[in-house]
Amino acid sequence: MEPIVSTIETKCKRCYSCIRQCPANAIRVVNGQAKVIEERCIACGNCIKVCPQHAKQIRDGTRHSFELLAGDHSVIAVLAPSFPAAFANVQPGQVISAIKKLGFSQVLDVAFGADLVAAAYNRILESEVMPIIVTSPCPAIVNFVEKYYPHLCLVLAPVVSPMIAIGRVIQEKYQPDAKIIFIGPCIAKKKEMFDENVAGIIDEVLTFNELEVMLEQKGIDICSLSPQEFDGPMSDMGQVFPISGGLIKCSDSDDDILNSDVLVSEGRERVLEVLKKVDAGDIEARFVDILFCRGCIKGPMLANDESVFVRRDRIVKYIKSQQDAERRERAQLDRQKYQDVSMRRRFTMEELTVRQPTEEEIRDILRRTDKLTPEDELNCGACGYPTCREKAIAVYQGFAEAEMCLPFMLEKLEKMQDKLSTSNKKLRDSIKSLRQAQQQLVQSEKLASVGRLAAGVAHELNNPLGGILLFTSILLKKLENSPNSEALQKVAKEAERCRSIVQGLLDFSRQSNLERRETDIHHLLESTLTLITQQALFQNVRIQRLLSPDTRHVFVDRVQLQQVFLNIFLNAAEAMNGHGQIVLKSGNCAKNGRVYISVEDDGPGMSKAMLNHIFDPFYTTKPVGQGTGLGLAIAYGIIEKHQGEIKVESQVGKGTTFTVYLPT
Ligand code: ADP
Ligand code: MG
Repeated sequence: MEPIVSTIETKCKRCYSCIRQCPANAIRVVNGQAKVIEERCIACGNCIKVCPQHAKQIRDGTRHSFELLAGDHSVIAVLAPSFPAAFANVQPGQVISAIKKLGFSQVLDVAFGADLVAAAYNRILESEVMPIIVTSPCPAIVNFVEKYYPHLCLVLAPVVSPMIAIGRVIQEKYQPDAKIIFIGPCIAKKKEMFDENVAGIIDEVLTFNELEVMLEQKGIDICSLSPQEFDGPMSDMGQVFPISGGLIKCSDSDDDILNSDVLVSEGRERVLEVLKKVDAGDIEARFVDILFCRGCIKGPMLANDESVFVRRDRIVKYIKSQQDAERRERAQLDRQKYQDVSMRRRFTMEELTVRQPTEEEIRDILRRTDKLTPEDELNCGACGYPTCREKAIAVYQGFAEAEMCLPFMLEKLEKMQDKLSTSNKKLRDSIKSLRQAQQQLVQSEKLASVGRLAAGVAHELNNPLGGILLFTSILLKKLENSPNSEALQKVAKEAERCRSIVQGLLDFSRQSNLERRETDIHHLLESTLTLITQQALFQNVRIQRLLSPDTRHVFVDRVQLQQVFLNIFLNAAEAMNGHGQIVLKSGNCAKNGRVYISVEDDGPGMSKAMLNHIFDPFYTTKPVGQGTGLGLAIAYGIIEKHQGEIKVESQVGKGTTFTVYLPT
């Protein structure tokens, strides 16, 4: 079988982002190329999203689809219910028409499969044979459990996914001789098609992106087509399936699921956490509904860049336009018609074992890259592994190569250069810039690890804190004129402070995706300034603008970038104690197509030692209660996510300049 995800060799540039982000440890580096280990891969598509070089590709479904369409059998498309979210500027019915124009004989609604699946879930819940049920419509989750928590296969609901459900309907009753092609937002479906427990039903899987490619190849313009309805059985609430928690909503005809204890969780990190808890018996809910993406509407292969909220909106609108009593009645009749199609499936416990090295073997490998003492272990994360030790284990297991250590290679280069004792400037310069890159990596890794910790702590603290604030305000009202109210006010004030720290932590750790839009950076700067210049702190701060009118537009997340500049402006005004001048400059960089925005103040400046720490989380020189030390750490993270850069220059007694560079 062709691998689901593979590496385009010439494009992989050893950044190891995929190693860092792979939840399944399924990347092996061979000769510097990061390759996907097929038997470990769960096909979540994460590595495709994070690879800055676009060096990961998915198994192509278009060629086989064209072949099937040209063959003797009629070919039915089954369309995932997230489709209205995938095609932004067309009516949902036009997508159906376009698919038919490609030569599909019919287009059926996977939402009908979701209705049958939801009914099957209700039956399991009623029977009470399973004390805890983990839902299984998401193939990435099924793959993950089968490979990494095989014993949890016993708590996976033995129910097929909506794709297989509609496939079985067609294969067993609707049109047994037809070929079936699924079209959706998901990469893992490409793997599910070959899953030995449900194989032989779906003939090919296409992503929405691939559908677009096929339409383009055939010169089909969706916008010019008149909309059509789905063929085949009528779906009901299954249409809400792709929205997070959708499985539960689908079952609203019968509220069994709603009455049970339910835990809905989605998104890679949370889901892994939940599975760990299920494994440890640490979950109270009986029904654990998990999806690898934030609902299928956040699936990796949706063609547009819209936010999950806009997509959700579009789906909801579509559903509202469809649902009426007559439709629901017909849908119910259709469900009855196909109720004896089995929705059951099994799982395969895969148990992938890897050898574990002894302590001596780990140390041996560490020594190969000159790591003789714990201090030599920089844990910079440049290799993609969080610590040198974990990387050494990966080397032992054959996943990593010893040479992936950037500090070690730099050391080696420097020594070589000394030996040659040439004054080769080019070589020296590149070593210098490599060193800088490494420092940046150390910074990012520091941020990431603090971020993970912070997210957990902040999340836990937020609720009790809300309680404290609520009850103090109730008590304060009751004790308005009592002598104790002053003490209580202090409690409220301190709790409020805690809350702003927690909010800062949550902002800092927020792993939210960027919602990028084309932006005039000058507008953004002005609107940021209007937010703050009314404050007392800015009353005696003069703001001078030297903005170059030809500064190119940037493609950024406006809210997050405002946060960056807000922090920089506030820091400048605070450093100058509210008295001084801020010079704001902008322009296009001559060389690399980036724009720059610099913010210069004539405050007290910073020493070299301070400069080394200002981007560290929690570094602050401000008195307790005034600074959290998170502002610049957050700014750094945001700019990094934009593939930009933030630099600072400062001279004690003269002032400080922060410069942000953004790609255009
Ligand atoms: P906070 O403002 O909460 O202290 P930041 O991360 O925003 O945290 O800033 C960290 C530290 O960097 C500040 O406490 C201050 O010492 C220093 N700093 C930031 N900007 C400036 C500036 N423009 N001039 C002088 N020092 C600054
Ligand atoms: Mg600050």
